[in-house]
Amino acid sequence: MSAAIEETEVLIVGAGAAGTLVAAKLAEAGRKVVVLEAGAPWRVEDMVSSQLWARRLKGTPGVTSVGGNPVSAAFNTGAGFGGSAIHYYASSIRLQPEDFKVRSIYGRSADWPFDYDALRPYYDKVQREIGISGDAAAEKWRPEGEPYPMPPLLQQTQADVITRGFQAKGLALSPTPTAINSEEYNGRGACLYDGWCDAGCPIVVCLEKIGPILERAREGIRIGEIYGTSAIYAGADHREAA
Ligand SMILES: Cc1cc2nc3c(=O)[nH]c(=O)nc-3n(C[C@H](O)[C@H](O)[C@H](O)COP(=O)(O)OP(=O)(O)OC[C@H]3O[C@@H](n4cnc5c(N)ncnc54)[C@H](O)[C@@H]3O)c2cc1C
Ligand code: SF4
Repeated sequence: MSAAIEETEVLIVGAGAAGTLVAAKLAEAGRKVVVLEAGAPWRVEDMVSSQLWARRLKGTPGVTSVGGNPVSAAFNTGAGFGGSAIHYYASSIRLQPEDFKVRSIYGRSADWPFDYDALRPYYDKVQREIGISGDAAAEKWRPEGEPYPMPPLLQQTQADVITRGFQAKGLALSPTPTAINSEEYNGRGACLYDGWCDAGCPIVVCLEKIGPILERAREGIRIGEIYGTSAIYAGADHREAA
């Protein structure tokens, strides 16, 4: 296994949404890629609708900051292939143009080195690729971009009550744009509204948001183990059916 690492061109640590996306794109471009993942090599069929079972998906035990007044914090992250995206809530709200210029406008933090218009085509591309449900017209505050490829998810009764209250005050509300299928999309089924999202969606409408990437990569990857760590081998010289 160590020989495979020596031969590789790119080593990525962590098979979360970010790591798998970068790995898949590099592998598609013909690069030899190894991804090291400390957690389990989860597959969609591993997801079980149980909070007890879902503890296995949880990640880091916590961190302690340094300095004169150190603070400990436990992060509700994810561990294993998919990382936190295995059990996240899939809210997919675009940044506002002002968010890129917080130093210039509000005198806080730092400006981004590019603006919303530079990122906009990628928002559009990602929402097409992973599938996002929402109502762009109702989001009066939404920056310019393509409408969502799926209609919004159904509202629960409590949301109906909140909506009536806001409307009575003349305030606008919109459905949250969500990376969960409200209808069949790209061959994946619609949400069942059974509420196990943070335990790992068992019908993949959530997990498969990184899944198109992971599952596509799986067609040409090999999964191995290096000193107890799961590894994904992808790219030209590592191609082998998983
Ligand atoms: C409960 C929950 C709800 C959320 N809801 C939303 C939401 O609604 N909308 C939204 O936009 N975001 C949400 N998030 C946040 C979002 O899921 C994360 O920001 C995103 O998934 C992070 O992806 P990542 O690839 O950057 O990192 P991670 O998903 O954290 O992936 C990192 C991976 O690296 C592995 N790793 C770490 N250290 C090592 C090491 N030393 N060696 C090998 N592997 C290692 C970890 O096991 C993990 O698999 C939510 C997160 C959680 C936990
Ligand atoms: S089917 Fe829908 S409600 Fe159920 S876990 Fe998946 S995304 Fe969540």
